[in-house]
Amino acid sequence: MLDTFRHKGLRKQLIADIRKKGVISEPVLAALENVPRHFFIESSFLEFAYQDKPFPIGSGQTISQPFTVAFQTELLSIERGMRILEIGTGSGYQACVLADLGAKVFTVERQRKLFSKTRELLLKMPYKVQIFLGDGYKGLPTYAPFDRILITAAAPEIPKDLITQLKPNGILVIPLGGGDDQEMLRITKLPDSQLKTEKFGAFRFVPLLPDLGND
Ligand code: SAH
Repeated sequence: MLDTFRHKGLRKQLIADIRKKGVISEPVLAALENVPRHFFIESSFLEFAYQDKPFPIGSGQTISQPFTVAFQTELLSIERGMRILEIGTGSGYQACVLADLGAKVFTVERQRKLFSKTRELLLKMPYKVQIFLGDGYKGLPTYAPFDRILITAAAPEIPKDLITQLKPNGILVIPLGGGDDQEMLRITKLPDSQLKTEKFGAFRFVPLLPDLGND
C-alpha cells in the first residue's frame, strides 16, 4: 500500500481538526500524523480514512474515531519503552499509534477473523506489536505486569484481572458503561494498590464481548 503526498496532506488536516477538538500532546499528535490510517481501512477509502469518524472494519466492529484514539492515548501519558496492553485490537490502528510512541505493545482480540486479518497487516507495518487471540477480560497474565492498559471497547465493569496486571503507578484507560454511552475513566493504581479514578466525559464504543464472538 502507498502513503502518498495526498494521504499525508489529508492526515495533516485531520491532525489540525483533532488539535482543535482539544488534544494538546505533541507526541500523540505526531504519532497520529505518522501512522497511515488508510492502511487499516479496507479498500483504503481515502475520504473515509481521513474523516474524524469511526468506520466499519468487518465482523460488526469499527475502527475508532481518530479523535477518540488521540484522546485515549493522551490519557495514557506514554513514555518510550513502556509495556502497554491493549484490549480490542480491531484494525490494529490504535496499537500502531501506541507503538509509534515507542511503547512495547501487546494487544488482544477476541474475534478470530479480525485477529487473523490484523496479524497479517501488522507484519507489514514497521512496528513491533505482539497480537494475541483471546479474551481481553483476562488480560495477558504471562506478559504482565504492564505500565499502561487501554480498553478500546465498552466495558460494563472494570475487569479485575486487568487491575491485577497493572504495575504500581500504572494507568488503565477504560470506557465504562453497558448502555449506549460510556464514561471515559482514567484509573491510576496507587503504590498502596488503592485506585484513583478520574472522569473524562461521554463516548460511544462497540461492546466488549463477554463470550466468544462468531468466527
Ligand atoms: N482499537 C481498535 C478498535 C476497537 S473496536 C482499532 O484501533 O481499530 C473493539 C474491538 O474489541 C473489536 O475488534 C472487538 O472484536 C474487540 N473485542 C470485543 N470484546 C473483546 C474481548 N472480550 N477481548 C478482546 N477483544 C474484544
